[in-house]
Amino acid sequence: MNLNQLTISEAKEGLKEKKFSSVELTKACLLQIEKHNKELNAFLTICKDKALAAAKKADEKLKNGDTSPLLGIPFSMKDVYSTKNVRTTAGSKVLDNYIPPYNATVYQKLVNAGAILLGKTNCDAWGHGGSTENSDFGVTKNPWNKDYVAGGSSGGSTAALASDMTIFEIGEDTGGSIRLPASFCSTVGLKVTYGRVSRYGAIAYASSLDTMGPITKSVEDAAYLLEIIAGGDEKDATSSPRNVPLYTKHLTNNIRGLRIGLPKEFFGKGLDIEVKQTIDEAIKTLTSQGAEIVDASIPSVEYGIATYYIIAPSETSSNLARYDGIRYGNKRSSFGDEAKRRIMIGTYALSAGYYDAYYKKAMQVRTMIKNDFTKAFEKCDVILSPVSPTPPFKIGEKTDDPLQMYLVDIYTVLINLAGVPSLALPCGFSKNNLPIGMQLIGPQFSEDKILNAGYQFEQATKWHKQKPNL
Ligand code: GLN
Repeated sequence: MNLNQLTISEAKEGLKEKKFSSVELTKACLLQIEKHNKELNAFLTICKDKALAAAKKADEKLKNGDTSPLLGIPFSMKDVYSTKNVRTTAGSKVLDNYIPPYNATVYQKLVNAGAILLGKTNCDAWGHGGSTENSDFGVTKNPWNKDYVAGGSSGGSTAALASDMTIFEIGEDTGGSIRLPASFCSTVGLKVTYGRVSRYGAIAYASSLDTMGPITKSVEDAAYLLEIIAGGDEKDATSSPRNVPLYTKHLTNNIRGLRIGLPKEFFGKGLDIEVKQTIDEAIKTLTSQGAEIVDASIPSVEYGIATYYIIAPSETSSNLARYDGIRYGNKRSSFGDEAKRRIMIGTYALSAGYYDAYYKKAMQVRTMIKNDFTKAFEKCDVILSPVSPTPPFKIGEKTDDPLQMYLVDIYTVLINLAGVPSLALPCGFSKNNLPIGMQLIGPQFSEDKILNAGYQFEQATKWHKQKPNL
């Protein structure tokens, strides 16, 4: 096995036992980036010299017995996090040359923990999209089949991880942007409870929906990272001061008696047969481990897309107003088509005369959706559903029809509207060898529970161990 293929826990152990150095580990990742990034277009910015210098320092610290939790471990981030002195674009030409003067809290926490930034990964501009085809810097290709999209908007993140250019990734999820690309590339992605992780310094898409979370090669790694990045932050008033549990301690609990709800609305018309069959197999695995299946219902599923695609553009039209081309960033004419579309939809939905009919109504339905989840969780501990109605689609297949693209988010946006956590994890492959993922959704702040269930499933199936043929 090459060093760049390691998980966090494997890399940590190897560094501790001095099997290799942080410089060797970092070089292995950089070499893989050099070999494959041109074709995959996963990284927008590569910090080669900075990373190597940081790795050298980390090796010295390791020698001196420093036990910082991520010391010497290379990683990369979706290009929406402010990273001091490192270019940050949000996938948009508006910020083509933007160098932030400060660090996002999540990034600062990772740096404090000793992790080493390899670079920043591609995404749909401003997080608007499900395929990375809305990036102003070109599409990211899926490592499993380069004719297909890697998902989005954090597609660069999951392609980098699936192709072992990096040890772990940090993504961002407003309506599915961690989970969808995680499932399209066969990686693990955690969308946290709203407020569990600070949003400070992450370029805002839709502030009431944005969540920051890990994308990893295993559930254990996701739990480990969450312990490091979660927690209250005085710089983000919506972050929760609630205590951060030791998520890794809960992973090995058995799941006997765990009640898994399968809302019929998630398994209806439009769900691809191969995805359905793969999820059915996953359910069998979980029941063989002692979980119980119970009926559940989220009647508001049918309103999810309409509600989300009013609220998210409304908030983004307000957030993007700050890019006026005067203080920083390029002219407003450098916004891409999708950003312009969303600014127009949002401005319309918020304007006098239409506010009550669109924005206010959408906010009322949002409360209904949240209540549906609260009710469902009275009868079950977690909800299981597909992440995407289909396996990955071909590059270009949906670019002419924004509505088709929005429909890909049908199973993910509800979770953001309700503010609950959801863990996406690999559960199989289509006949064409394209990844299929499922998600485990829990009540607010139940990350420990969904990580535990995901870990138990992962131990039984090992889908996460499969690698694409690059
Ligand atoms: N695909 C969804 C959208 O375009 C979700 C994006 C996200 O989570 N950032 O809005």
